[in-house]
Amino acid sequence: MLSLRARLPNLTVGIHSVVSVFSVGHLDELIAYADHSGADQFITEIAEPRVELDTIGLPITPSPEKYREAIDRLIGYVNTKHFKGMAKFTEAFRIEYYKLVKRILDEKDQVIDCYAGWASAQIYADGTVWPCCVRADRIGNLRNHNYDFKEIWFGDKIKEVRRSIAAKECHCPLANASYTNMLIDVSTLTRVSAKLLRPGSKQHQPGNGERNSSVGLVPIPTQPIRSRD
Ligand code: SF4
Repeated sequence: MLSLRARLPNLTVGIHSVVSVFSVGHLDELIAYADHSGADQFITEIAEPRVELDTIGLPITPSPEKYREAIDRLIGYVNTKHFKGMAKFTEAFRIEYYKLVKRILDEKDQVIDCYAGWASAQIYADGTVWPCCVRADRIGNLRNHNYDFKEIWFGDKIKEVRRSIAAKECHCPLANASYTNMLIDVSTLTRVSAKLLRPGSKQHQPGNGERNSSVGLVPIPTQPIRSRD
């Protein structure tokens, strides 16, 4: 992928990782690896139980305190970079997402309104339509509706789900839904726009493996990173 960039100037290569109870203590190593790799960007998502992944009930989400500590280091790292093109846009949103996750974990609230069930949905492999993969309300199966999504989307079952979500009877830091929600949230858009318009102070050169002592990056691990017990 990295070698393709020479021929495809609009190609952005990113590394995506999950911050879970197993990796939250290793974020410095992951940042250092990503920094050294030459990838254009490094982004993370918090681990959370999902029906689609069969992880409901598993203790995979890091504590708010540990997540905050780790993600603040990643934000500090990202803020030392000056991204170009699409990476500049996605990184600005990603920082907003990290901050939103911290608040959701702390306040145990949606923080900004969730529009899952209106602005976003998930279709499971068997055709089941969910408003999101965390609640996973079974609002219909495409196979039973002649593959007509509209029948499910404007049917009766989804009405109670939409009421529940609007009443904030659930909250979670799901990245997919959060991104859609942030794109509709005026205050988030304002902050992202301001950041994008602000001139950068430093040009990010993918592949130079630069280190930033302010975030305390550690050397590239020579052994595979082991999960914590
Ligand atoms: S807050 Fe989370 S669980 Fe609730 S609808 Fe939105 S994405 Fe789903």
